[in-house]
Amino acid sequence: MPRRPPDDPARLRIENGSWRTTPRPTDWGSRVAYVLQRDKVCQWPQGCDETEDLEVDHAEDADDHNVDHLRALCHRHHAYRTAQQAKARRPRMRRDPERHPGLRYDDDPEDAA
Ligand SMILES: [Zn+2]
Repeated sequence: MPRRPPDDPARLRIENGSWRTTPRPTDWGSRVAYVLQRDKVCQWPQGCDETEDLEVDHAEDADDHNVDHLRALCHRHHAYRTAQQAKARRPRMRRDPERHPGLRYDDDPEDAA
């Protein structure tokens, strides 16, 4: 599926370079303030005690702006997570390795029997 061009109004570009299909809610700013006030420290699951440069992360779907599914992450962990999400979204570019014609494969019907 071809990627939509950046000027498609159905998609909004956000500051970290990821794409979302729906715009943020109009009260996004107050949701951010609420989450930062509630969490106060980076909520990285493996533990992080950073309290500076906190950013709000969508813990689940990027289009799910429910504050129960938002969390504070420090800039470093938010950037790491955003990169992981972008990597997961990218289509796999490599094809399966070619099979050696002289070898037999258990899942090849021609090799069975
Ligand atoms: Zn952190």
